[in-house]
Amino acid sequence: MANQWKDIPGSGLTHADSLAEARRMLHAHGIAVTRQRLSVLAYLRERPGHPDADEVHQAMTARGAAISLASVYNTLRLFAEKGLVTPVELDENRLRFDAELTPHGHFRCTACGRIDNFPCDADALPANGLDGYVITRRDVHFHGICKGCLNQQKEEPHGQGQKEG
Ligand SMILES: [Zn+2]
Ligand SMILES: [Zn+2]
Repeated sequence: MANQWKDIPGSGLTHADSLAEARRMLHAHGIAVTRQRLSVLAYLRERPGHPDADEVHQAMTARGAAISLASVYNTLRLFAEKGLVTPVELDENRLRFDAELTPHGHFRCTACGRIDNFPCDADALPANGLDGYVITRRDVHFHGICKGCLNQQKEEPHGQGQKEG
C-alpha cells in the first residue's frame, strides 16, 4: 500500500534521499524543519507537476500523513513566499504550485486540462512601457489544444458533433 512512498520512479532516488534533500532545501531557505513541511516538499519534488493544495492534501493522506488541508495550504504558501515553489494560476479559482524552479513557461490544453512545461525565460522578456513599475512576478502562460487532443479530433472527424446510437 505504501509502496509509492518508497521509490521515486525513474530518478534512482530513494525516499530517504528525497527527504534529506528536502531538509537541506528547507534549511537553505530559512524555513524551520517540521515533518509536515518535509513531507510536502519531498512530495512536490518527487512528483513534478502542478498540483493544487487539494491534490497535495489527498496525496499526503494517501501516504498516511495526518495533515489538514489548511496546514497543506499554509505550508504551500510559506514555500511560495520563500521561493521554494512557484504559484501557478492557469485556471480560475485554482492555485497550483510548481516545484520546478528552472525558468519555464506553461501550456494548458483547454480540451483535456493537461499542463506542459516548455523552456522559456520570462525574465528575459522585454517589459517596454513599464518603466517605473515594479514587477513582482513574471508568468508565461499559453493556452490551446495539445497534440494528443488534436490527434483525437482527427480520428473523430465530426469533432463536436452529436453521436447517434
Ligand atoms: Zn489535451
Ligand atoms: Zn511548471
